Amino acid sequence: MPRILVAGGGAAGYFAAIRAREVCSRVEVALFESLSRPLGKVKISGGGRCNVTHHCFDAGRLVGFYPRGGRALRGVFERCGPLDVARWFESRGVRLKTEEDGRMFPITDSSQTIIDCLEREAARAGVQVALRRGLRAARRTAGGFTVDFGGVEERGDALLLATGSNDAGYACVVALGHGLVRPVPSLFTFKVADPRLEGLAGVSVPRVVGRLVVPEHPPVVQEGPLLVTHWGLSGPVVLRLSAWGARALHEVGYQATLLVDFFPDTGQEQVRATLFEAKARSRKHAGNDCPWDFPRRLWESLLRHAGGDPEAAWPALPNKVLNRLAEELKRGSFRVSGKGAFKEEFVTAGGVPLDEVDLRTMESRCCPGLYLAGEILDVDALTGGFNFQNAWSTGWIAGSAAAESLR
Ligand SMILES: Cc1cc2nc3c(=O)[nH]c(=O)nc-3n(C[C@H](O)[C@H](O)[C@H](O)COP(=O)(O)OP(=O)(O)OC[C@H]3O[C@@H](n4cnc5c(N)ncnc54)[C@H](O)[C@@H]3O)c2cc1C
Repeated sequence: MPRILVAGGGAAGYFAAIRAREVCSRVEVALFESLSRPLGKVKISGGGRCNVTHHCFDAGRLVGFYPRGGRALRGVFERCGPLDVARWFESRGVRLKTEEDGRMFPITDSSQTIIDCLEREAARAGVQVALRRGLRAARRTAGGFTVDFGGVEERGDALLLATGSNDAGYACVVALGHGLVRPVPSLFTFKVADPRLEGLAGVSVPRVVGRLVVPEHPPVVQEGPLLVTHWGLSGPVVLRLSAWGARALHEVGYQATLLVDFFPDTGQEQVRATLFEAKARSRKHAGNDCPWDFPRRLWESLLRHAGGDPEAAWPALPNKVLNRLAEELKRGSFRVSGKGAFKEEFVTAGGVPLDEVDLRTMESRCCPGLYLAGEILDVDALTGGFNFQNAWSTGWIAGSAAAESLR
């Protein structure tokens, strides 16, 4: 019986293995996982709720959420996109819900629902799962592969690597002839030590535009909510900037400047005019009388930083303070001095270059019979379910093609 070896029991490995058996039940599929439990990242994903995918059913729009992978993935998502994944789970008894921002979760709000489904489907399809059997080395042999899983050699006609962002997996693809785009972190918060942010942890602004200036790289501009943390800055706008700027930031040791526009829909002149109107109209303490709906403590802090006393009445504020404040509100400059962690989600940019893979089948162009799926590829996305979508889509295609090649 022809045999497919799958390395890695994560989202991509499980999806690929199940699909391979569904395409051809005469192909044996053996999945090897290094840990004592599979699907570890699914378990912790989405804060324990598992953000399975995103309600974006247009492949052309979907690729815009992938800083690495992007347009190359369009065909992949056309063949297996979020709608296919949602239907896959729903038809196997997992009801999904869509939140206002488009993120899709199991209605149970528990990642265990996804794990149970994948394990049940793998068992039903007849996938053989071996735990504590880490991939150590693989070599191409006549007509197939000989692979060391945990010190025991296995023979397979095809090898499907879905080991995620893992050194053993990377070493293996390189040994099989691939290049590697250097893995670097993506989706992180910014370390910003700035007196303006002191004591403001937890304060958020619903929508800002952030412009990340990294020396000798084009600026990255993103918008979204901003959150002050104990460490610096976070929130969707920062995570988006970290993803699009991941490589540039890594190159410069995470030293950059973040320019924040707190009023993206209002020009600087208009902001200035509003401040001068407040000075002319209001007799109240400026710190207590912000002319906009804006977090009070942040307003006070920015006012102080512009040289104004929040206890002073509006008319007592010198014009030069108002001018500085307008600048502060439209182009607040923060020095990024490091990378924080983002507990909810964290991915690796880099991996196997996509031009070394036939994206119609996910088969390696360097090593026939080798298939690649998931985060081992040079693909990563913003938060929102897009990273799992890559794992499901590439896993599904790799599993289909590997099985079809052995029919
Ligand atoms: C905290 C956290 C939360 C996240 N939340 C979300 C979310 O809600 N939505 C979303 O879209 N994305 C989320 N992500 C990203 C998502 O988890 C990954 O993109 C996705 O898991 C990648 O799937 P994968 O199967 O390619 O790799 P992985 O999930 O990393 O699976 C790889 C598997 O291979 C195993 N393995 C590694 N090396 C070997 C080896 N040598 N031999 C055998 N097995 C090996 C690993 O133990 C693992 O089980 C989150 C990530 C983190 C860290």
